[in-house]
Amino acid sequence: MPNNIFKKSNPCSSITELPKLGLVKNDFIVDFKRYYSHRLGRDQNCRSPHYAYEALSLAISDRLVERWKDTYNTYRETDCKKAYYLSMEFLMGRTLSNAMLNLGVTDEVTQAMYDLGLNIEELIESEPDAGLGNGGLGRLAACFIDSCATLQLPVTGYGLRYEYGMFTQAIINGEQVERPDHWLKNGNVWEIERPEYTNRIQFGGKVVEVIDDKGNKKRMCVDTHDILAVPYDTPIPGYQNGTVNTLRLWKATATEEFKLDEFNAGAYAESVAAKNSAENISMVLYPNDANENGKALRLQQQYLLASASLQDIVANWVGRHGNDFTHFAEKNCFQLNDTHPSVAVAELMRLLIDNHDLKWSEAWAITQKTMAYTNHTLLPEALERWSVSLFERLLPRVMEIIFEINAHFLAEVSTRWPADTDRLARMSLIEEGHGNKHVRMAYLAIVGSFSVNGVAELHSKLLQEGLFKDFYELWPEKFNNKTNGVTPRRWLAACNPDLAEFITETIGDKWITDLSELQKLENFLDDKKFCKKWYELQQSSKQKLINFKKTEHNLDLNVNALFDVQVKRFHEYKRQLLNVLHVIHLYDRIKRGDTANWTDRCVLIGGKAAPGYYMAKRIIKLINNVAEIINADPDVGEKLKLVFMPNYCVSAMEKICPGADLSEQISTAGKEASGTGNMKFMMNGAITIGTLDGANIEIREEVGDDNFFLFGLTESEVEEMRHQYNPMGIIEQDEDLQRVMHLLESGHFNQCEPGIFDDVISSIKSSDDLWMTIADFRSFVDAQKLVEEAYQDKERWTRMSIMNTANSGKFSTDRTIQSYSDEIWNLQAIAVK
Ligand SMILES: *Cc1c(COP(=O)(O)O)cnc(C)c1O
Repeated sequence: MPNNIFKKSNPCSSITELPKLGLVKNDFIVDFKRYYSHRLGRDQNCRSPHYAYEALSLAISDRLVERWKDTYNTYRETDCKKAYYLSMEFLMGRTLSNAMLNLGVTDEVTQAMYDLGLNIEELIESEPDAGLGNGGLGRLAACFIDSCATLQLPVTGYGLRYEYGMFTQAIINGEQVERPDHWLKNGNVWEIERPEYTNRIQFGGKVVEVIDDKGNKKRMCVDTHDILAVPYDTPIPGYQNGTVNTLRLWKATATEEFKLDEFNAGAYAESVAAKNSAENISMVLYPNDANENGKALRLQQQYLLASASLQDIVANWVGRHGNDFTHFAEKNCFQLNDTHPSVAVAELMRLLIDNHDLKWSEAWAITQKTMAYTNHTLLPEALERWSVSLFERLLPRVMEIIFEINAHFLAEVSTRWPADTDRLARMSLIEEGHGNKHVRMAYLAIVGSFSVNGVAELHSKLLQEGLFKDFYELWPEKFNNKTNGVTPRRWLAACNPDLAEFITETIGDKWITDLSELQKLENFLDDKKFCKKWYELQQSSKQKLINFKKTEHNLDLNVNALFDVQVKRFHEYKRQLLNVLHVIHLYDRIKRGDTANWTDRCVLIGGKAAPGYYMAKRIIKLINNVAEIINADPDVGEKLKLVFMPNYCVSAMEKICPGADLSEQISTAGKEASGTGNMKFMMNGAITIGTLDGANIEIREEVGDDNFFLFGLTESEVEEMRHQYNPMGIIEQDEDLQRVMHLLESGHFNQCEPGIFDDVISSIKSSDDLWMTIADFRSFVDAQKLVEEAYQDKERWTRMSIMNTANSGKFSTDRTIQSYSDEIWNLQAIAVK
């Protein structure tokens, strides 16, 4: 810490005492002008809306920072228990409109900008997304910290400040092209760098034993390659409650003394360039969703997050309590967002034992009382395993500690189940075999944690019965469920302001912080005027989505068509292919003239594929090729459109979910842990067509059978059918499916590109198809017919839509976070003084 700049005799105890900044229109006009002109140095000749966006954001940020300090001081004074959400991803999206909403200044600011001749929409649109995540897992972290602040819970988010976020997706010749997302290129007005809290992170080197000044043996690493972790803090405001929590993101930099003296003068440039290898660690987000990666750089990222965050918290503790950790576990709790930060289990042991002289048993007791782990997937390809040799090279002391944790753990297992060697091998943190040992990160997380949760009822049940069965037998009390949610501030109040206002006019505004209030909308189901207005608002949201898309696609969509939307990451388990098969089936019906009682339909599909995921990229190409044929066919016309929406991201979803009629949630049962896209659509009044998978099951429970289009095999039916799965036999039995397959196989959609879809076609025809797409085709088509029937009856559809919004209360992250707080973290809400 730097020396205190204040003289002790200074009668003014604080230079930060300032009058509160105003929140009315004129306050924003004055501050905007000052920032625009003095800080940014722009004038009326500046054409770019970017600087107006920055000037406004600085004015808003000042208001956040005021409340941020009050919140920080309140937490400090009350010495309350705190929780830390450790996540490699925070898919935040944009900040400005959410900050205005949560500060309660949207109207005043909109007016202020209007008076200055500026359009607030344009300023909002010029903010780049903070795309520091892949998909659901990263967006969940962002929704969680919003709810923590709204519930006034002392929770800090810890993550990495990637220089490059999720890649930007362009579609060229129907194929995904990845472009780097340099989201920080114009700076980031929302963050504050705090170099005074920099931590040193050690990589490599070797472990030696030394005798400390008390005569104790100590193990430590020498000859390490160190980097620095510099924190950047972003304020996270609660909804109109004065609380502003913190998201702290670490940036890797070179150590100051990057050994210039080791180089001769001739190598000066090389020595400075070495700085880059340190900064590389937080340079780029790995763009894999539900897929492990195995690269050394990724393990370095994970350790950077775990070590920097834990050092931060431990240093804070030591600053107040010295080396007395007796009450540490009563005051601190770490939630691990998947296994990505799970090296934290071993790192906390290392810090407590090596740096703060605790005994193994004391350190282990603290670790097991403070760590909690959330699992996000059952897919075997997503389970992280790090090679022991890589671990030993990068983190030798941490690897030693993991071996020791494993030895203690296996001793416990063999006490419980003597001589059960199979079980020991199954449960070991170290996977043997193929001559190559691996660390099973999920097992490390379970052993080191007091709580293990899945993210929807079905998912949590399948974890106990399958993936973590042995651990459930050993420690049933650790296992629990926390069904995901989404924040209703961003995903209804901010993204669908007209509907939000109408809801507030109808039932008051309590729903914004108590989403179960939406239930009251059911009282208006028979109110003709209410239903008519609801329908009109849905249509106007569709029109807005059309206008948004028109700028990119030059494709005029019909607002009266059924808007059938599937947006999410591309993965075979999510079965975008099943959706395409249905589209091809509709196309085939049109070509056959089977169009009596037709329902016009626009199928919108969007999402990114991991750059190395061949099959997912081919499916994107297939969708684009099918779209080109269908959209250009004069026989098809308004009856059917297929649109691929490039670069699906948070700010795109904010426009898409209000404009959807039908929400496609069609994963193979048992594969989607929860889903959260499904919840955003439901909240905005879209109706789900879905399998009994993830949170779809709970959505259907809440909204009722009649307001949900169910199809497909159940999870147990899928597992049952696997043994004798015969897609060729199914195709033979189904004439519609035969015709679809024939169109695909005849090259109808790739006439100039022979063979490019062969791999996609053979994957679904294979009896080994893990995702069993063909098995659910007939049931999907039948359910889609019921969709059309319902859609033709506007009144019925509108009632279904209202029922979906009205029953979406459970899917607020306020409910999810309240359960984390009550059942895992044990926090008290604290009102800011
Ligand atoms: C909500 C969201 C997701 C998660 O969607 P799922 O349908 O649950 O997979 C992914 N990406 C973005 C940008 C989102 O907003």
